[in-house]
Amino acid sequence: MQRTPLIAANWKMNGSVALVEEITRELASLNLSETEVLICPPATLINCFSAERNFMLGAQNVSHEKAGAFTGELSTDLLLEAGARFVIIGHSERRTLNFESDGLIAAKLAAAVNAGLTPVLCIGETLEQRQQEKTQQVLARQLDAVYASQPELLAKSVIAYEPIWAIGTGESATPQQAQTTHAFIRQHLKQYDTQSAIRVKLLYGGSVNADNCAALFDQADIDGALVGGASLKPAEFAQICLAVTKGAKE
Ligand code: PEP
Repeated sequence: MQRTPLIAANWKMNGSVALVEEITRELASLNLSETEVLICPPATLINCFSAERNFMLGAQNVSHEKAGAFTGELSTDLLLEAGARFVIIGHSERRTLNFESDGLIAAKLAAAVNAGLTPVLCIGETLEQRQQEKTQQVLARQLDAVYASQPELLAKSVIAYEPIWAIGTGESATPQQAQTTHAFIRQHLKQYDTQSAIRVKLLYGGSVNADNCAALFDQADIDGALVGGASLKPAEFAQICLAVTKGAKE
């Protein structure tokens, strides 16, 4: 069973209809037959994308509630109707700024999978936790919170390792740091289901750009990237997509 590479863009609270058109044009010229590309724009832009495109769409957040009196929230059904097929869950900005707990993230992930959306679960440690050598402990807690009681969801998930100290700082993890951590994550996931742990795509996120991506993608357990800042620059994002087009890993 092979893992097809995935490059995902997290536009965060950025973008415009003009950027939707620009990225669609830029990616249209690429041969993406061996790579999956996912754009997660702000939810209001999801249905501004044309059906004529060679990449997939996702949202950056979802409610765990099905429908009802939840002002400002978006349900899985609304996202699916808009055209999303993926959703980012547990991004560190939402864990920190929106006080999302491990329990809420687990509920959102279950709601997404049950509705037919593929979750991109983000996990990662702070600089202080890394310096205190608590990285593995933190990641294990974040994974266990989601999969210990619902291991069957792993087969339907994508996981993004995003060290918080590397997000938006210009300081990516080194390929060796990222590989060591990805190998730990894959090993840890084997307790839930060995086959799913081998098959699950593990993305690296944190200051990925056109210059540092190739060395990251060379690592055995890095199956692509979740890209923030560089995904707002269509030409650079296209270069990152091309850098990973080297065939699937197993
Ligand atoms: C992110 O926030 O998911 C991210 C990876 O951002 P950046 O690439 O800008 O570090």
